[in-house]
Amino acid sequence: MTIRLAILPLLLALNFSMCKRNPSPTASSEPATSSPTPAEATAGGSPGPGVAGAASAPKITKPVVDQTAQTLIFCYHRLVDKIRYPGTEITPAAFEAEMKQLKDAGITVISLQDLLAWKRGEKNIPPRCAVITFDDGWKSQYEVAWPIMKKFGYPFTMFIYTEGVRGGSLGGGEAITWEQLADMRDNGVDIQAHTATHQDLREGHNIMLAAPGGKRTKTKLTGPQYEEWLQKEVVGCKQLLEQRLGIKVNCFAVPFGSYNEHVKEIARNAGYEAMFTVYGQPITFTSPNDSLGRYAIEANKPKVFVDAVKMIGTSSAGATAVAEVGATNLSTQPADGDTVRTALPLIKANLSGVGAIEPGSVQMRVSGLGVVPVSYDPKTGTVSYQVTQKLRENSCTVIVSAKSEGKKVEAHWTFGIDAAAAGAPALAPAKPAPTPKK
Ligand SMILES: [Zn+2]
Repeated sequence: MTIRLAILPLLLALNFSMCKRNPSPTASSEPATSSPTPAEATAGGSPGPGVAGAASAPKITKPVVDQTAQTLIFCYHRLVDKIRYPGTEITPAAFEAEMKQLKDAGITVISLQDLLAWKRGEKNIPPRCAVITFDDGWKSQYEVAWPIMKKFGYPFTMFIYTEGVRGGSLGGGEAITWEQLADMRDNGVDIQAHTATHQDLREGHNIMLAAPGGKRTKTKLTGPQYEEWLQKEVVGCKQLLEQRLGIKVNCFAVPFGSYNEHVKEIARNAGYEAMFTVYGQPITFTSPNDSLGRYAIEANKPKVFVDAVKMIGTSSAGATAVAEVGATNLSTQPADGDTVRTALPLIKANLSGVGAIEPGSVQMRVSGLGVVPVSYDPKTGTVSYQVTQKLRENSCTVIVSAKSEGKKVEAHWTFGIDAAAAGAPALAPAKPAPTPKK
């Protein structure tokens, strides 16, 4: 671990010139990278020959990201005018309407790579986001979905199973071609892995094996035979995509969402940074990268989409009457956007300008810690909390709320933590330190 920590900045620096494979393995121990931000180490998509990173060179500052942001990840399959398989199809009109609903709900569509960069603490994202992904590699994704996405200016990701590409043992007439994928790649579409043959990856499950002659046999694999097959599915798929398209693949969508710890481990060792299932849920800063849930959108269950949008669409905007107070008005400490050199900061805000505060109503939330026991001095209006358990991420969001004259007021701010200066290896596994209070 320590060694990896030391070489990481070097590798990231090399990354500018080589523009290849960056070391992003351990998915689960993710978000805290204690290294200078690579300007845009975006995988897949737009590599561009231009020297983008050169100008914004070696100032070692920690980007401060809003850890309270939330993202919905949607998963689509085929776009067809006449629905025959409602479980995996949607009409172009319904699809386009959903893309518009995101816009109308104030949800920003971001790329999957931006979501991961945010989780690494390298890049900020808007408070409410969505990521659009397409599975399996159908030509309708190229011919129908892509033009719609262009219309909205939305980025997206394709999860491809390699034997399903046209010409592969499972690639029929409706399959996407390698040429189409290359065209998408050239235009900034992110292309990622979805196994070789799209089957349940757990040991002992029925699978279909295609013999070179095209003959298919149903079988169950165990032991070394299973391991060899699993390697092809998880690792071989990534290698083939990387070689055929000259891209970096760092994401893996698990077919049917069926996997287990062993499959995760193989994927992690293969260099996948993130793994995706079909169990949709809003993705937060701390969602584990090895099981990011996506909402699979089906023609016969339009409510899945509507409900997902409601999950993040209304929580902060509509329902509750919360008056947002700017952090600068509260003279917060650390200030919004500042970077501190300790993992144990004193966090303070002054509520005196807000109005008459109901003393029992003052609450502070700290990302990574949750609600913390604050002291509040009604005379000065100062609310404070001395962090007693090292903050592990390289940025920290604080939410202070209170009731004033019957109304809830709330302030959010985020500060950075220079982990290196703080002497806290950000990637070190957290020892379950005894919690002093509570
Ligand atoms: Zn699939």
